[in-house]
Amino acid sequence: MTRRRWAWVEVDTDAIRTNVRRLRALIPGDCKFMAVVKADGYGHGANAVARAAIGAGADTLGVATVDEALEIAGAGLSAQVHLLSEPPPAAARELVQEGVIPTVYSLDVAHALSEAARRQGKAVAFHLKVDTGMNRAGIAAEDAAEFLLTMRGLPGLELGGLFTHFATAEVPGDWDFERQLGRFRSCLESLREAGFRPPIVHAANSAATILSPESHYSMVRCGISTYGLHPGDATRDKVELQPSMAVKARIVALREVGMGDGTSYGFTWRASGPTTVATIPIGYGDGLHRVLSDKVSFLVGGRECPQIGRICMDYSMIELPRGVTAGIGDEVVIVGNQGGSVRTLDELAQLAGTINYEMACAFGMRMERLHT
Ligand SMILES: *Cc1c(COP(=O)(O)O)cnc(C)c1O
Repeated sequence: MTRRRWAWVEVDTDAIRTNVRRLRALIPGDCKFMAVVKADGYGHGANAVARAAIGAGADTLGVATVDEALEIAGAGLSAQVHLLSEPPPAAARELVQEGVIPTVYSLDVAHALSEAARRQGKAVAFHLKVDTGMNRAGIAAEDAAEFLLTMRGLPGLELGGLFTHFATAEVPGDWDFERQLGRFRSCLESLREAGFRPPIVHAANSAATILSPESHYSMVRCGISTYGLHPGDATRDKVELQPSMAVKARIVALREVGMGDGTSYGFTWRASGPTTVATIPIGYGDGLHRVLSDKVSFLVGGRECPQIGRICMDYSMIELPRGVTAGIGDEVVIVGNQGGSVRTLDELAQLAGTINYEMACAFGMRMERLHT
């Protein structure tokens, strides 16, 4: 794996299986589990994650874009693929062909899917997305029944499910969350009154799956928690998750510098005395955000070593403190365990002023991934 490049991502698929089992244990046995593998499995590799999740009891897969849907649907996995966003009408033919379950909340998309279904002699069980307050995408909850009545005559389409998405599920007891849930309940009620019974009803992301059993309905959609990361602090003592991503590199160069010498662009760091500088081939082009420059530390030989100077696109430098000896090719842990010490995506995210979701996606961009 490290033959071509001395920077890589390790993904522990056992950890993913463990997480799916632990999350599944939080929901009723007849509730379906969707593993959300959009953005290439939050940077972990959609295909490998999907296989592991299915092996541990995931029923379906969720993605965000048409390309992601077509790719994972074409991978020959046993689970159905849900496209969680509404596709452009022009993508209808391919989606129907691959058997992807589409999201619908516009009439022109419904027409395009109906036309494609009719031509291919197939039935499409779409899921209607309702906006219950996040104000991002979906049909307004109070308009859902009327929308379905308008669509009713379209051949080849059937209502396969109804869903919504929460804006604040990671905040326990949140008023806005309760309001969204209330609107979703009313929406379901209005659909029943109009004669619609969506076979699958879903609302919960990771946070709601862990914190709000009343939001489970007939399926939950877990992304971040599948990867062993928490959507917020409130879920940490509710379920034990195993982080599955490690980020590693090997030292490619070593320098002894003297007092006043700097390293990297702009010399934001200068040595206060004789210092050993080690170079690793990982930079912001790999997801190590430049904003982390001079703020993070990595592990070498189980010891904490500060990152120094600006993080470049393809390189970053670290200081080897007194007592840490290392040579070319020695392993540096950016995220993961080494000698009993741990570096987490959560810490990096906090220092970068972002969330673990974004850090994980970013590390998946350019580095090769080793799935164990
Ligand atoms: C990304 C996404 C999820 C997963 O959210 P997590 O917080 O990662 O569990 C669930 N549902 C929808 C619609 C999404 O877009």
